[in-house]
Amino acid sequence: MQSIDWTSLGFKYLDTNSHIRYTWRKGAWDAGELVREPYLKLHIAASCLHYGQAAFEGLKVFGCRDGRVRAFRPAENAERMYRTARRVCMAPVPVELFLEALRRVVQANRAFIPPYGTGGSLYVRPLLIGSGPQIGVAPADEYTFIILVMPVGPYYKGGLKPVRAAILDDYDRAAPLGVGHVKVAGNYAASLFAHEQAKHDGYPVELYLDARTHTYVEEFATSNFFAITRDGKYVTPDSPSILPSVTNDTLKQVAADLGMPVETRPVAFGELGTFAEIGACGTAVVVTPVNEIVRGDTVIRVGDGSDTCGPVLQKLYNTVQGIQYGDLPDTHGWCVDVG
Ligand SMILES: *Cc1c(COP(=O)(O)O)cnc(C)c1O
Repeated sequence: MQSIDWTSLGFKYLDTNSHIRYTWRKGAWDAGELVREPYLKLHIAASCLHYGQAAFEGLKVFGCRDGRVRAFRPAENAERMYRTARRVCMAPVPVELFLEALRRVVQANRAFIPPYGTGGSLYVRPLLIGSGPQIGVAPADEYTFIILVMPVGPYYKGGLKPVRAAILDDYDRAAPLGVGHVKVAGNYAASLFAHEQAKHDGYPVELYLDARTHTYVEEFATSNFFAITRDGKYVTPDSPSILPSVTNDTLKQVAADLGMPVETRPVAFGELGTFAEIGACGTAVVVTPVNEIVRGDTVIRVGDGSDTCGPVLQKLYNTVQGIQYGDLPDTHGWCVDVG
């Protein structure tokens, strides 16, 4: 293994020692094995390839201040993957098996965990696919559960930097009774075209409104929406087609701990201009501040529209990172020893 330059890590795929792989056949999961080669031998008629039976997760493992190795709220991801599997008729991975797989793959790849102080973490990517051949449209009879890991650097090397967001009324991410609330691979394919267009036009993130009326805010393509009102409340939209983000749930609790009122409720498009701060949140970044939202000819400036992160988002970000790295007390029992 060549030595890793922890300071130059980005957010991209890197080979490690191994991934862990389990197979479900005839109603049961096998014992799983660590596999060195980052390749699958997959049936050409596997249901994940043709009919989209594919789910994934994303979480992080941290090298903490006290030298221990901890995953952040992994049971939340396990439970979400369970719900996703159910929604698209895949064999669900029991939460205990998910957590065991996580411990095994992290221990096999300890050398790839960025040390405390580098700002990095071990990104964990669980994946569940229909691997049995299926040509008639029906659930597969075999499933493969994989966890791969890779070291990643801090998303924001120069501190939190606000970005511009676009609302593209020509595209929706998720239908009201569809699969927006579960983490299926197809949701990402569905949002890629709009994402490429937004990026080309200078907007790193796209904000989606509710598909039925394009009146209410839902979420960004790959992260939840939250806002801070001028009187200091934490507000995040309520909709059945939003993916329940673990980061958003964490931020809500941290905001409440800091004494802020927390509201989960419909957020009208027309309200966007009234917020003091707006953020996108997800595991990879924790928080991305948004300083401008564009919809056609309408330009909404957020707060003072400045190029620096607002004080509340910065405080929330620092608090979450502090808990994750063990610099602040973990009063909610979020950090799980996996070393
Ligand atoms: C994964 C994901 C998020 C972020 O969820 P976290 O659990 O915070 O990482 C938000 N929105 C969508 C659509 C997602 O797929």
